[in-house]
Amino acid sequence: MKELLKDKVAIITGSGRGIGKGIATFFVEQGAKVVINDIDPAPCNETAEELRAMGGDVLASPCDVTNKEQVEKMVADTIAKFGKIDILVNNAGTSRDALIHKMDDKLLRFIIDVNLKGTHVCTQAVMPEFIKEERKDEFKKIINFASTTGVSGNIGQANYAIAKGGIIGYTKAVAREFARYRVCVNAVAPGFIETRMTQEKKPGMKLGLPPAIRSIAINAIPFSRNKIGGRPIDIARIVAFYSSDLSNWVTGQLILGDGGAFI
Ligand code: NAP
Repeated sequence: MKELLKDKVAIITGSGRGIGKGIATFFVEQGAKVVINDIDPAPCNETAEELRAMGGDVLASPCDVTNKEQVEKMVADTIAKFGKIDILVNNAGTSRDALIHKMDDKLLRFIIDVNLKGTHVCTQAVMPEFIKEERKDEFKKIINFASTTGVSGNIGQANYAIAKGGIIGYTKAVAREFARYRVCVNAVAPGFIETRMTQEKKPGMKLGLPPAIRSIAINAIPFSRNKIGGRPIDIARIVAFYSSDLSNWVTGQLILGDGGAFI
């Protein structure tokens, strides 16, 4: 299996590192042309270079997914380079945890904006391309990033639960709205995946988890081995399924990629 996504053009947001980078790498291996996006230009450009060294046809487009003008430019640059867009992976996201009594408006708003508004801004920006009359018989794909927290909730993550739970509803709404254009809109809910978000948190770090919480989360994964959580490739394979023709009859759905933690 090396050509699952041959000549498909995919924008993958937040793909400078973490799960998004894992998706971009797997997509290049499967023959896709990819747009690497990240709010931080350094990892964005570095990942694009790494993928070019693998032989990938890659565009680096650093921008903030919550900024409409910047996202519209990314979409225009993608069409200018590749001539079309087949797949949008709304992976960019982040978390900032706090218990309810410490969760101020700024913390609430920031997490809703990056995860939920960012997904909406990118979806709106690709829609003119996806509803073109001449592409009406082709299946186009949008993959949104929820989380098991959006399904089950989690202590200290009310802001993240609002955003990720909202993405599940948003996915179903957009799937219904754009079904007539053959746009498949689906969501993935990762469980615990080893990235910066879940790394062991040391003093002064914004992202990460205390060692005790990491242990509890990893021990709850029946498939985990050697005390590590899931890997970006475990999620990349689900996203590749949603992005490929294998899932053309699937829309409005959610797959949990959690190694059996939330059955
Ligand atoms: P990550 O390693 O932090 O990667 C996320 C990337 O998105 C970062 O490079 C980040 O850039 C970028 N980003 C953040 N805000 C952005 C914005 N406004 N515009 C463009 N890019 C932006 O996190 P990850 O673990 O790979 O997470 C990927 C997705 O999976 C997220 O939606 C996350 O919520 C979801 N998820 C992850 C887990 C997990 O266990 N890791 C579990 C459930 C769901 P900066 O670093 O510069 O901010």
